[in-house]
Amino acid sequence: MAAGENRILLKNVDQPGYGRDIDSYISKGGYEALKKAVGMKPEEICSEVMDSGVRGRGGAGFPAGMKWKFLDRKSGKPIYLVCNADESEPGTFKDRQLIYKDPHQLIEGMMIAAYGTQTALSFIYIRGEMYDGARILEEAIEEARAKNFLGDDILGSGYSCDLIVHRGAGAYICGEETGLIESIEGKRPYPRIKPPYFPAVLGLYMCPTIVNNVETLCHVKHVIERGGKEYAKLGKPGNTGTRIWSVSGHVQKPGYYEVECGAMTYGELINEVCGGMRPGRKLKAIIPGGSSSKVLRADERFQGKLKDGTEFDWGVEDIPLDFDGPMAAGTMSGSGAIIVMDDSTDIVAALANINAFYAHESCGQCTPCREGSLWLKKVTARMVAGEAREEDADLLKSIADQIEGRTICAHGEATAWPVQSFILKFRDEFIDYARKQAAERKAKDSKTAA
Ligand code: NAD
Ligand code: SF4
Repeated sequence: MAAGENRILLKNVDQPGYGRDIDSYISKGGYEALKKAVGMKPEEICSEVMDSGVRGRGGAGFPAGMKWKFLDRKSGKPIYLVCNADESEPGTFKDRQLIYKDPHQLIEGMMIAAYGTQTALSFIYIRGEMYDGARILEEAIEEARAKNFLGDDILGSGYSCDLIVHRGAGAYICGEETGLIESIEGKRPYPRIKPPYFPAVLGLYMCPTIVNNVETLCHVKHVIERGGKEYAKLGKPGNTGTRIWSVSGHVQKPGYYEVECGAMTYGELINEVCGGMRPGRKLKAIIPGGSSSKVLRADERFQGKLKDGTEFDWGVEDIPLDFDGPMAAGTMSGSGAIIVMDDSTDIVAALANINAFYAHESCGQCTPCREGSLWLKKVTARMVAGEAREEDADLLKSIADQIEGRTICAHGEATAWPVQSFILKFRDEFIDYARKQAAERKAKDSKTAA
């Protein structure tokens, strides 16, 4: 554990002698929270989660207790619980640590959530590429079933619920919750229009469904273990608990770090926990919440008022490491994937890489996303190939502006935001790129003519 971390979810992970088997987990107090939970009323579990203030760790930061409250319990239809383990956001590698290294923590969190919401059947939808993760979860589920932590009449409570592992097939859009639901139903993962109907009302098989991220469901175990109000003492109001940050890019010690929300700034995480930039290099930019968030320049300043009325005047490195800090700076913490870029970064090439990703992963259902993402990819690929034009910056922005807000799911915004923010913040670099290439071409032509 690095200095400054507060490991709760990752407490046992990477410890010498700790296996991912059920005996290891039980030896560390595993499944005690489930035993406590089944002695409580289901509505008490939901109240504890509400009191904890725990927000979704998948990307949107929506309060988990609120989502559970929105469940349509009057419909008389079965309720489903789905764990979104389709972790695919570029730069994000936190859920896989929890799945591969401590699968029983997730299973315990899920069975508590299932009991609290009186789920009829639960699923873990796991990213297709995580082949070993699916096998590890299936083995862990069998171990848990043998000890009656799931299945029929769980721990003699009279409540029964099974847990099914469903593998994806490698499409990013399956991580969008309604695309994921369509995929479990055996269809193409075309996201559904929401609002008006969110999965909590019409989800899997048109029944009320809770979709929560792996990390969120692991937190549920700790909420019940400590009690919601006690859990809420971790972090700060509105940003409770810990978060696992995946840090990649040009730092000395990239990796996954669990830090109490708001306990440090982005600068402290990068410079102290991650060992700072590579030797002789300076910070150029960070993408704070996976590639779907807006890039921040190292020399930007942000001023304004927080929700509680506090005035702030931050540089990038002063932004609090929580949900609301990046929002105040006009971006978002998303899935907690911090991509760090130093002054050696070719910003046009970086955007070309992001554009290629979103074009490849568009499901093709809406024209602005399908055509726009491909167009963006082609323009930046041409620039990187040596055919950049000065007007490309305006062209890219104009395409992105016509995607944002005109699509069925957030993939449209995820495609547009990096382009808009890269152009807004590094416009000069895009123009210089074209000028430099034009000068090189001219020099080459005159050499050939001579
Ligand atoms: P969203 O804001 O639409 O919804 C967040 C959650 O709250 C959903 O589960 C939604 O059903 C629920 N919700 C919102 N309003 C509701 C209401 N009125 N009633 C009931 N439920 C309601 O966001 P989203 O599209 O689910 O997620 C977008 C985020 O996903 C982005 O921020 C992105 O960073 C992240 N993301 C993460 C990954 C990853 O690998 N972890 C991959 C892609 C995207
Ligand atoms: Fe598919 Fe893109 Fe439309 Fe989302 S925005 S539904 S990914 S085409």
